Amino acid sequence: MSCYCCVIGAATIYQPIGTQQDVLGTCYNCHIHACGHHADRSADDAQYLCMLCVKTLLTASAFTRTQNTEYTRRLLQETGNVRLMTLQSEATIRSVQSFARSHPRLWVVVGQSPRWDGYRNGQGISGQVREALDEDGTELLGAALVLSLELRIPREDIEQILLVASEELSSEAPPRAGR
Ligand SMILES: [Zn+2]
Ligand SMILES: [Zn+2]
Repeated sequence: MSCYCCVIGAATIYQPIGTQQDVLGTCYNCHIHACGHHADRSADDAQYLCMLCVKTLLTASAFTRTQNTEYTRRLLQETGNVRLMTLQSEATIRSVQSFARSHPRLWVVVGQSPRWDGYRNGQGISGQVREALDEDGTELLGAALVLSLELRIPREDIEQILLVASEELSSEAPPRAGR
């Protein structure tokens, strides 16, 4: 049995536990097998989540903070990401601060990135998307983008909306390595 994130060649989280490629569990959300270098348990509810799902949760949570429901709905429809709107409220990450508390190993990847200072303020996020979000939403989307960039998540595993939201990500996301 292999860790999905190892197979796709993703970079590792901060202070990982266990041996890379040694599967520690299945992701609570998407059920892939994941090692302790690519997933962690939430400090809030102990759910074991792979880094791909944490990135998706940050993205979905950001768009719950929309200030322009009409525009956001259309954007998510156009990018094929309508399912992000179905996020249950208990799964929503309310702010970057609560993300830092629940997933410290993933948060440090974002917080220590030289990209973070710009993205947290919405630099690097395309104008219209940024305008639709409030301050917390912008930070959450920025965190999803920085996480995708720093962990070298392949474009096939990134929501289209993130590729639209960031020129840097759309030009740098590697193709899936596979086998
Ligand atoms: Zn792994
Ligand atoms: Zn997952």
